[in-house]
Amino acid sequence: MAEPLARGCLSKMTVEPGPPARYTLIAGADRVPLADWLGATLRLDWTGAIACTHCGRATRKSFGQGHCYPCFKKLARCDTCIMKPELCHYFQGTCREPEWGEAHCFQPHVVYLANASGLKVGITRRTQIPTRWLDQGATQALPILEVASRQQSGLVEVLFKEVVSDRTNWRTMLKGEAPVLDLAAERDRLLARLGDGLDELRQRFGEEAIQELDAEAYRFDYPVLEFPGKVTSHNFDKQAEVCGRLLGIKGQYLIFDTGVINLRKFTGYEVELRAVDPSLAGPATPGLF
Ligand SMILES: [Zn+2]
Repeated sequence: MAEPLARGCLSKMTVEPGPPARYTLIAGADRVPLADWLGATLRLDWTGAIACTHCGRATRKSFGQGHCYPCFKKLARCDTCIMKPELCHYFQGTCREPEWGEAHCFQPHVVYLANASGLKVGITRRTQIPTRWLDQGATQALPILEVASRQQSGLVEVLFKEVVSDRTNWRTMLKGEAPVLDLAAERDRLLARLGDGLDELRQRFGEEAIQELDAEAYRFDYPVLEFPGKVTSHNFDKQAEVCGRLLGIKGQYLIFDTGVINLRKFTGYEVELRAVDPSLAGPATPGLF
């Protein structure tokens, strides 16, 4: 069998905006620029090992995208309030890691509209722009509000969720490009409709706490040769070997002709990545094989 292109525990792929978006697969210390392998037949083998991305200990199962059970129960980043920031319990004195919370949650957050599978609302730390959208496979995004903390962003999102989805339909996202939306018009429509609720939050947190942004919309383009007609997914827990022709990358998904795989879901899984037929594609680096 060919030497692996990469071997180690999976991390989230890094991605540069491009266009098209430029993904790097990360396995342990190995980095594989995936643009070089678009169209090639690749094979990913899970060795059966999983290492916690936080403490490194071996774990039989992955919790909360790559954590061992003790870390999953102990870390603030694995707490319910990360997914539902409106439930922030820092002020009750029960934050699992107050210092981590201060560094990550008590930072400016942005409320945005994005389009990966249709209009959705979301929140992110300002420092995660534009990575957050690329990780979702969004083709468009528009920051609409800036707020002082994660909790406040959660409260704003709760307002928006009454009238717009906060979810991406990943199957739809992987089947093609969502029809283009006029996000600025959607913003104006939503801000007008939710004005009373936003004013109530401003009364609670201060006039300055929630600011409207006049930002430019972002557009993203993904390296996809062909979208799948029907989306089936690979799962290392059921089948340790994933093999297929790499047709594209969108969000944190690799799109093979044999099915898609969400690499983020398998953070911490130790894998080996190989080119099945290196003569078909790959970097023009003589002697690599
Ligand atoms: Zn751990």
